[in-house]
Amino acid sequence: MSERRDRDPGCLFCRIVAGEIPSEPVAEADDVIAIRDISPRAPSHVLLVTREHIPSAADLGAADGPLLGSVFELAASIARAEGIAETGYRVVTNVGEWGGQTVPHLHFHLLGGRSMSWPPG
Ligand code: AMP
Ligand code: ZN
Repeated sequence: MSERRDRDPGCLFCRIVAGEIPSEPVAEADDVIAIRDISPRAPSHVLLVTREHIPSAADLGAADGPLLGSVFELAASIARAEGIAETGYRVVTNVGEWGGQTVPHLHFHLLGGRSMSWPPG
């Protein structure tokens, strides 16, 4: 395990994963937790947050295949539970400043309950 995956005590999502900062849990798996976004941008807006501190998708590699499989499996399961699977939804991860990333700990937005525009703004 590389150093980049060590818990960062100053990281908001590391603290949420550790239970030091409250969140609204939706679901969880071995390597990822799902919580409600505090500032929802769609009727259903869930964050899938890796338990490990990985700064962004730019730090992923082939060895992370199982982790990503777990993320998308959990996303599909939550989408069914939220009642958005039939109409469709979006799973997105932002990377860096121009990508719109504000929390430097890997997470995926699951957005649904309304029609999404394309391309994103
Ligand atoms: P991003 O901007 O892609 O890095 O996504 C970070 C997301 O975290 C934003 O959608 C925020 O609304 C959300 N967020 C920030 N603080 C919290 C928190 N304490 N609990 C839940 N979601 C949060
Ligand atoms: Zn972190």
